[in-house]
This record gives sequence, C-alpha cells and structure tokens, in this order.
Amino acid sequence: MVSRIAVLTSGGDAPGMNAAIRAVTRTALEEGWSVFGVKEGYYGLVNDTFIELNARSVGGIIQLGGTMLGSARCLEFKTEEGRKRAIHNLARHSIDALIVIGGNGSQTGAYALHQMGFAVNGVASTIDNDLLGSDITIGVDTALNISLEAIDRLKTTASSHRRAFLVEVMGRDCGYLALMSGIAGGAEAIVVPEAETTPEEVAETISAAYTRGKSHAIVVVAEGAKHGIAALTEYLTKHKEELGFDVRATTLGHVQRGGAPLAYDRVLGSRLGAGAVRAVAERKFGVLTGMIAGKIAYTPLGDIAGKTKGLDPSMIALAGTLAR
Ligand code: ADP
Repeated sequence: MVSRIAVLTSGGDAPGMNAAIRAVTRTALEEGWSVFGVKEGYYGLVNDTFIELNARSVGGIIQLGGTMLGSARCLEFKTEEGRKRAIHNLARHSIDALIVIGGNGSQTGAYALHQMGFAVNGVASTIDNDLLGSDITIGVDTALNISLEAIDRLKTTASSHRRAFLVEVMGRDCGYLALMSGIAGGAEAIVVPEAETTPEEVAETISAAYTRGKSHAIVVVAEGAKHGIAALTEYLTKHKEELGFDVRATTLGHVQRGGAPLAYDRVLGSRLGAGAVRAVAERKFGVLTGMIAGKIAYTPLGDIAGKTKGLDPSMIALAGTLAR
C-alpha cells in the first residue's frame, strides 16, 4: 500500500515544472497520501532535504518559471554509494514511491534507482525535447516561443541594416529547439548537430539569399552543432564581402529557460504530473510519464534511459524547402 510519496525536480530547469509539482502534490493528496518535496533534486535525496507539501504549499506557483523545489546536478548520485544513501533517506522518511521530474540524465538516474528496487516514476521535462517516450516535454513550448520572439526581433533590425544574424539557441546535443524556432521564425539556414552543415555551405546559402534580393538572413545555430556560432561567425565575417551582408551574432543562452510558462506547458505539466501519480496508484512503476499522440503514455525507463529521440528528417527537409 502506498501512503507516502516524494517528488523532486532534477537537471536543467524547465518552465512548467512547477505545474507538474503542483499536480503531483494535489493528485496524491486526493488519494489520501502524504507528499514530500525533495529540494535540489538528487543532491537533496542524497543529503536529506525533504519537506512536507500540502495543497497550500504548491499554491501560487503554476504561473512561475523555474522550480519551487530547486534543481541541481549531483555527481554523487551517479555512484552506487550515493544512490544507497538516497534509498536510505527515502526509507528514513518511509517513502513508498518517488516521482522524478526531469530530462534525459534525470530519467537515467531514476532508472538506476528503479534497478536497485525502489519504486520510481518519471515525468518528461526538459526544454531540449530529446527524451524518448514523449512527443513533447515540459518546457519546450515556452523555450521555443522565447527563441522565436528573439528571432523575430533580430529579423527586424537585420532587415533595416541588410545584415546576416547568427542566433544560437539552447538544446545541448539536440537540435530540436533550433530546428523548430528556425522553421517558425523563417530562418534562411538552420545548423543542428544531427545534420552536419559546413561554414562554406552556410556562406553559400546566405550569399544566395542576398542574390535573390533578401534584405536579411537569419541563421539559427544549435548550441551543440559541430560548427558552432563562434566558428561560423568567424568564417562568415572573413567572407562578408562575398556574402553581401554584414554579419552579427547573438547567443540567447539561459534567457530561454526563464520566465513564465506558457499555457501549453502549464497544461502539459499538470497532465503529466497527475499521470505519474495515477501510475503509482495503479502500482505501475519504473515508467516515464510522457505524451504520445496527445495521450498520456507510460514507457519503461529501461527503454529510454541513456537514449535520445533524434530529429524527424522530414522536418529538416521542410526547413530547407521553405528557406527560399
Ligand atoms: P537532465 O535531466 O536535464 O538531462 P543531467 O544530465 O545533468 O540533466 O542529469 C541530472 C542528474 O541526473 C545528474 O546530475 C545526476 O545526478 C543524475 N544522472 C545523470 N545520469 C545518470 C546516470 N547515468 N546514473 C545515475 N544518475 C544519473
């Protein structure tokens, strides 16, 4: 019988995590269970930072970005010794099940805990959208819209001065945010880790755009791209006479993580948080709670841990077609 559960947020924060914490807490309270939040992710699990949550402690957070529980990266949890300490602390608080809200690394950690016999479920949350087991993860839509707003603004000034702007967006080794913000922002070129693009190819694309009479060129570069924004800027600046355009570079960085979650992420966080608790109530453990084809889906953590989703090649092709 489950009567006490714990919830934590881990790894990179994502707008909408608070909606998930709130949903986990209130759904579990409705089951009649006690709920504990663990501060600072796995660090808090190892170092015992449990706090009891009630319906009021998760009030007024759904509209806030970040995570009220804090998040951290914890090397100790990657060791068996660290995870034993975590399980010891969970036992000390008589916790029957743990819910881990986080991205790829965090779900790999959740799987490691599951393999050691602890009842754990994941909630798919990362702005990178690289997790298998969920078409889209908590935070992606908000981060995408922040990138898009920046691209729209840069396009205006780029047009005034006939400039080419390189814009670096986040996403670690995954080009999803770059690809989608490039498509939505009407970029002339998109550089992602999944499809190698050389500086020469980018220069050719920009130069062709100039010849076709474009007043600007936007190049969206994923932070994990092989030829990153620094190398591309250097190359393009060196060849600016041939390009036609003057060259400028902007790195969006952590701006994409901050700010209020948009409606989509609040609803997704609410649905996935509640879904993870439902799985616990049904005694379904060791699964990632995600969204597939608009429905809550449970995928064994063993099937997704340490793997990444990859990009849809048809979206890469679409971006190329539309950048004319
Ligand atoms: P994200 O969840 O956003 O991908 P990280 O990759 O930094 O973030 O992972 C968050 C935390 O998950 C790490 O600091 C570590 O404590 C834990 N973790 C990551 N990979 C593993 C692993 N292979 N085994 C156990 N724990 C892991």
